[in-house]
Amino acid sequence: MTVWVLGDQLDPSAAPLQSDDRVLMIEAHAFGDRLPYHPQKLALVFSAMRHFRDDLRERGYEVTYVEAETFGEGLDRYFDAAPGDDLVAMDPPSHGAGERLRELVAARGGSLTLVENDLFLTTPADFDDWAGDADAYRQEHWYRHARRETGVLMDGDGPVGGEWNYDDRNRETPPEGWTPPEAPRFEPDETTREVIGFVRERYPDAWGSPEPFVWPVTREEAKQALSHFVEVRLPEFGPYQDAMVDGEWALCHSLLSAAINLGLLHPREAVEAVEEAYEAGDAPLNSAEGFVRQVLGWREFVRHVYRRSMPELAAANQLDQTESLPEAYWTGETDMRCLSEAVGHVRDRGYAHHIERLMVLSNFALVYGVDPAELDRWFHLGFVDAYHWVTTPNVVAMGSFGTDVLSSKPYASSGNYVNEMSDYCSSCPYAVSKTTGENACPFNALYWDFLKENEERLRGTGRMGLMYSHVDRKDDDEWDAIRARADEIRRMGRAGTL
Ligand code: FAD
Repeated sequence: MTVWVLGDQLDPSAAPLQSDDRVLMIEAHAFGDRLPYHPQKLALVFSAMRHFRDDLRERGYEVTYVEAETFGEGLDRYFDAAPGDDLVAMDPPSHGAGERLRELVAARGGSLTLVENDLFLTTPADFDDWAGDADAYRQEHWYRHARRETGVLMDGDGPVGGEWNYDDRNRETPPEGWTPPEAPRFEPDETTREVIGFVRERYPDAWGSPEPFVWPVTREEAKQALSHFVEVRLPEFGPYQDAMVDGEWALCHSLLSAAINLGLLHPREAVEAVEEAYEAGDAPLNSAEGFVRQVLGWREFVRHVYRRSMPELAAANQLDQTESLPEAYWTGETDMRCLSEAVGHVRDRGYAHHIERLMVLSNFALVYGVDPAELDRWFHLGFVDAYHWVTTPNVVAMGSFGTDVLSSKPYASSGNYVNEMSDYCSSCPYAVSKTTGENACPFNALYWDFLKENEERLRGTGRMGLMYSHVDRKDDDEWDAIRARADEIRRMGRAGTL
């Protein structure tokens, strides 16, 4: 058998690599033409693959590395040299991908065996046993179950510290003058520089800046990134995980998603390192629990929800939203301080942290009325850590409320949330205290208009009661002004004058 190592399965301890020492890798370039992918995403995947090839060869594997336009072309060349070969690969998490690969291989006279993907902390069987035949899921329930099953941060049958959740300590904003620890930079080596050069030439339409490229591209670098996070950033990760600070792109976030999603770092390693830091007294429980919740809770959860909800999930649009993305998502040019910062971070680095993704980028698109599939495409092409299995549930379900498969209410808010959790509003020409009229914060009118427009669907969801008590207090004149301002904002969004 020959192990086909896919580009997001770069883990030398993956099960198939333990039993076979012949390896196939195909670096397929045409997938990068489907969307104007961020050049750092393309460079990251190709550079990490080439480094992994070299690492495997050093470990004694016999690696066939094919650069081709498509998997089909790569397989043609492979099977010309190795007719009838039998391949084995870990089942890719994106919908239908394994089956498509199997067909491509079979059409060339070979066979492909798909085995369990062991780059996650939990298996499909674990989740399916827990979920039964449910078709809507809640992360909190899953997370507690996963904590119990894995024993992470457990004290006998209960959670360490007595609580499952320390969110009440994790909503702080940093004091004035605070600066986050510097983010680690992994300077591009010769292989990465060559790949960046290739990407610049091959993908002239890619959206975003190819440099500064600072992402870990090897397992060694990914392990250093994890150590840096645990030693330097973890203590403040918890308290400031929901904060946004003008001019700061990383705060105390781990910046590990791209490495974990490529297989350079196993999520188990990240969880264990954080648990150990807590046990050694080097990190507070609210930070350690906050991180474990993201990885063991959210990351595993969205993977399984995606698996069970596709293909409907990708097209879900229960609110019938039809707007195109505002121009500012492409240009970054807008007077809205929060939006220009968040889009700027994505354009410059292929990254924005969770609260920018949820409460600025997708929240704004949600209340503006953007079609979830269009927003999904934008996230998919713009982020270094984007893969269909993880981007789509986050964008379509969590961010756009295209379906209630993973939450019972939308993550929609007015400018108040941004004002509470950031220092953006004080330097923004829009007034967060105003809903209508000149210079009113665009979030505000859009938010109320969104609640009104979707009243039939949202009022009954239970958890929206408080919001609708505010809706009920507004009179017709207020609604006319809100509607006029929301229409104006959408016109400005389309014209690129937001
Ligand atoms: P940290 O804030 O340090 O969190 C630690 C880790 O937890 C992350 O590295 C990640 O592995 C995991 N994690 C946390 N939340 C989630 C989540 N909701 N889903 C999956 N993993 C999670 N994550 C991606 O990996 N790829 C995406 O394409 C992606 N798109 C997103 C789109 C939207 C609209 C939203 C709201 C979230 C998205 N996320 C995505 C989840 C999350 O925002 C990122 O994983 C996180 O911001 C990555 O930065 P970090 O490594 O510094 O994370």
